[in-house]
Amino acid sequence: MIEWHELLPEPLPFLPLDWIDFCQARSLTMAPPGEPVTVFMTTAALEAARQHGESDCSSEVGGILWGRIYRNASQLVVDIVAALPAHQAIGTAVHLSFTSSAWETVFVGRAELPEDLLIVGWYHTHPGLGTFLSATDLQTQRSCFSQDWQVAIVLDPLTGNEAAFRGAGLPVALHRYFPHDFHAIMLAEELLNPGSAELAAAYEKVRARLPLANRLGGGGQQDLYQLIDELAKAARAAYPESLCRDGCSHCCYYPVALFTVSREEWEAIFAYLQQQWTAERLQQFLRRFYREARPYWWRLRWYNWLLDFPLPVMPTRERLPLACPFLIAERCAVYQARPAFCRCFGLFSLSHWFLRRSYPYACKAQSDLLQALASQPLRAQLPSFNPVSMLRGGIARGNKQLLALWISQTWPGVEMV
Ligand code: SF4
Ligand code: SF4
Ligand SMILES: [Zn+2]
Repeated sequence: MIEWHELLPEPLPFLPLDWIDFCQARSLTMAPPGEPVTVFMTTAALEAARQHGESDCSSEVGGILWGRIYRNASQLVVDIVAALPAHQAIGTAVHLSFTSSAWETVFVGRAELPEDLLIVGWYHTHPGLGTFLSATDLQTQRSCFSQDWQVAIVLDPLTGNEAAFRGAGLPVALHRYFPHDFHAIMLAEELLNPGSAELAAAYEKVRARLPLANRLGGGGQQDLYQLIDELAKAARAAYPESLCRDGCSHCCYYPVALFTVSREEWEAIFAYLQQQWTAERLQQFLRRFYREARPYWWRLRWYNWLLDFPLPVMPTRERLPLACPFLIAERCAVYQARPAFCRCFGLFSLSHWFLRRSYPYACKAQSDLLQALASQPLRAQLPSFNPVSMLRGGIARGNKQLLALWISQTWPGVEMV
């Protein structure tokens, strides 16, 4: 075993947001109490460690945790964003050692990670033994990861449990989160008015599952789109008078058509097109798209710059005579893979960052109706999201653009300008 110590950057960066916003941007419905060291971890990093553990349940395996560390007043915040396996670590059924050759291999894959990440700890498995630090683990922790903020995660791949420790081996809570702008879909506001049992149940379910969501589409426990759809369905059931109906496509003209969508959302649509559309259909679509979008190209670029986060309610389709490229014969041609805002619009509310209250996020008619209904007693509160928090968190920046721009970037076959 070798001794190794990560040095903290000097000066240690301050948290990029205030504490509440930082937690909100990680979809934590409640900011954790001010522990001396607070540990966050992306669901993707935890999933990577889990999958590594499940790949060999006969012996212990482990690897390195990479992340960022911030100062927040007297508190340290550790944000774990990646887990890379240490393939040369020597594992037996009951313990794991980081040999010097293991240390050489932990840097394999490091080049793929953002440059500013530090080694913030290690993880390893205890197949069938439970999640604790053994005497050998404590020795590893002391010789390699003894700083207060350094984390050890122990996973039991047979039970699916995990536990986190820090410094000399103190248990610490692991706040898991989905590093995506949709995690600003918040359930943070208390359900003031649980007028709908179905919506209250959907809130509970989504609260539990949101931190585990790690993909868009495909169904199942980890599908974020499925969670949004469940909330929207429950909201619709709570407001049966809702004007949102199958076939109503006005909001695909404006503003839904002008939401900027993230790369992940675009990739979900792209995968859908590849699976569901023939090459011929795609060519036909692209010809139509370029023909219709050409007169508006500069305007679209301007909107793309302007609309980095959704505008408040925009009432009519006449605002822009251009629909979403995927609105074909008044139907959504990518309905199963449509972006998050398309799933939310009409049935979610938008948190007003300044007034600190929410209002329905919908076309004018639907918004007016929901506001009138919501003021009646015993009507349920709509799910909400907060794009301004997302933007301030830097989460919504970069890699977001209009669907029209994603299309032209992916298939730049036709000159637009
Ligand atoms: S928000 Fe308005 S335009 Fe959109 S589906 Fe609902 S009723 Fe129709
Ligand atoms: S993706 Fe579908 S639902 Fe969303 S704006 Fe386009 S046509 Fe409408
Ligand atoms: Zn161990």
